[in-house]
Amino acid sequence: MQHLILLASLFSLSTASSDWCYPSQFSCTHQCKTPESWSQANSGCGGRAQSPINVVTRKALVDERLGPFTFHNYQQTFHSTIKNNGHSVQVSVNHLATVQGGELVTGYKAVQFHLHWGKDGGPGSEHTIDGEQYPMELHIVHMKKEYTDLSAALKDPNGVAVLGFFYEESRSANKKYDNIINAVQKITAPNSNTSLASISLDQLIPARQNLTTYYRYKGSLTTPGCTESVVWTLFEHTIPLSKEQLQVFSKLRFPNGEPMVGNFRPLQPLNGRMVYRSDAGALLASALLLMASVSVTLGLSQRR
Ligand SMILES: [Zn+2]
Repeated sequence: MQHLILLASLFSLSTASSDWCYPSQFSCTHQCKTPESWSQANSGCGGRAQSPINVVTRKALVDERLGPFTFHNYQQTFHSTIKNNGHSVQVSVNHLATVQGGELVTGYKAVQFHLHWGKDGGPGSEHTIDGEQYPMELHIVHMKKEYTDLSAALKDPNGVAVLGFFYEESRSANKKYDNIINAVQKITAPNSNTSLASISLDQLIPARQNLTTYYRYKGSLTTPGCTESVVWTLFEHTIPLSKEQLQVFSKLRFPNGEPMVGNFRPLQPLNGRMVYRSDAGALLASALLLMASVSVTLGLSQRR
């Protein structure tokens, strides 16, 4: 019996410690841990290589090795579930889609993607570029191909690669997001989910030729446990969404019933870390080389 009581109290302790939230969620009746207190229950959040950060572009070091990425199966359509997980909107990627190149030491496979946003299309990205906060930020979370689950990848200092994309308000709606926007309207209730039919990762992000300019640094997950095992890539080219499309995300609800807005972590100190920038000029040359090598490869494979 005493064991049971001990277990029960341990359980309540662990649920209490996972009760983290964003400032927009905090209320007198719901006293959750806001970002400045995350490190109390998750020591990782107090580390020295945390995310997100502000990127100061004139201080970013050009690294010629930051070449173009190779994406596999990003064009493949898949069926999945989109859920309101209480902190964000998340979609699991259930087919093998990988990213390689761009100084990623090995291939990384996509696990899930989710978003961070502001209120009604106002500032809401996690990372900022020269102090500019965009209305929303997409995180496509990948792990090294050798791992089967994220928890194993998080034990490797380079186990996770997140591709981050910024959104910008456009005059016209982005039709490629119709599926997602419609689905989001069905999951305004916390912990609800709905099916998401035929989407591809490609339809979410800018065209390949616009993915050659990006920033790279070593950081962490931006939610508890804030594990410092993330190779971050932030793309310069933005994704357009209309104001109406951006506003749909503010209709979602946190578990306490408050509107799910401002679900971004405050900026974290660099603590001497370097931010690297791909060199677009060199990238153009290497893109041409890549095209040449692709055509050679295609020629070879056709002969087989
Ligand atoms: Zn995120």
